[in-house]
Amino acid sequence: MITQVRAKKHLGQHFLKDLSIARRIAESLELTVPTDVLEIGPGMGVLTQYLLKDPNARLTAVEIDHESVDYLREYYPELHLVEGDFLRMRLEDLYGGPFCVIGNFPYNISSQIFFRVLDYKDRIPCVVGMLQKEVAERLAEPPGSKTYGILSVLLQAYYDIDYLFTVDETVFAPPPKVKSAVIRMRRNGRVSLDCDERLFVRVVKTAFNQRRKQLRNSLRPLIGKCDVADGNEENKILDDRPERLSVEDFVRLTQFVSKHLVTSEQ
Ligand code: SAH
Repeated sequence: MITQVRAKKHLGQHFLKDLSIARRIAESLELTVPTDVLEIGPGMGVLTQYLLKDPNARLTAVEIDHESVDYLREYYPELHLVEGDFLRMRLEDLYGGPFCVIGNFPYNISSQIFFRVLDYKDRIPCVVGMLQKEVAERLAEPPGSKTYGILSVLLQAYYDIDYLFTVDETVFAPPPKVKSAVIRMRRNGRVSLDCDERLFVRVVKTAFNQRRKQLRNSLRPLIGKCDVADGNEENKILDDRPERLSVEDFVRLTQFVSKHLVTSEQ
């Protein structure tokens, strides 16, 4: 009989102790109809217990840690549990239709989790996640803020993001070094962007690679020295810096870049 899982640092294990916070996170999904739900990293099941009680949640949990899996099988035998790595799973094998994602995420891979969500954005209508406060802020920030970055733009293109609440490090065992926060993302109405979406991702990544530089410099690998017509309205956006651009601006910028791609890029 296992009484506790030994926290493993390399798996980002910080177990939430505060049950009222766990319940609040689980309730933040606000399910009103029966919905498939995927929990990433249930650990010892602190969120899981509330999700199992939600009559609208058809829950599956994916956990990489064998010791946690043994623990969960013992205490939550009714849970549909998959042992494995969320980042490597073929999610289409789990669900035929849409599913929501929830978790107190392992912070060491939280960005990778969000890139994965983007891969499945048309199947994932809602995400509720706890992550490092600073990353949560970045994802939810509008353009113009210092921390606005690649994931803010890519996620905000397809999701409306709410910063729900901050969580203190003292409510975890062992406590993480940083504060945490819970965010909720809901898929917005955008079916597709009005530009080449793969190029959009490259433009956003290339621009933020050198976030202090004007776009005319940082985008040189894509468009070369394309600033001949200075003062031209269409070119004006190149004077800007990436952190000031909204999703719509990046769409316009991508349209511009696609017209001026240097030959080796085409
Ligand atoms: N939800 C629990 C545990 C959070 S700690 C709680 O709130 O207390 C993060 C959990 O994610 C750990 O249980 C860890 O083993 C698991 N995990 C880490 N990497 C993972 C991965 N790639 N796929 C699935 N689970 C993972």
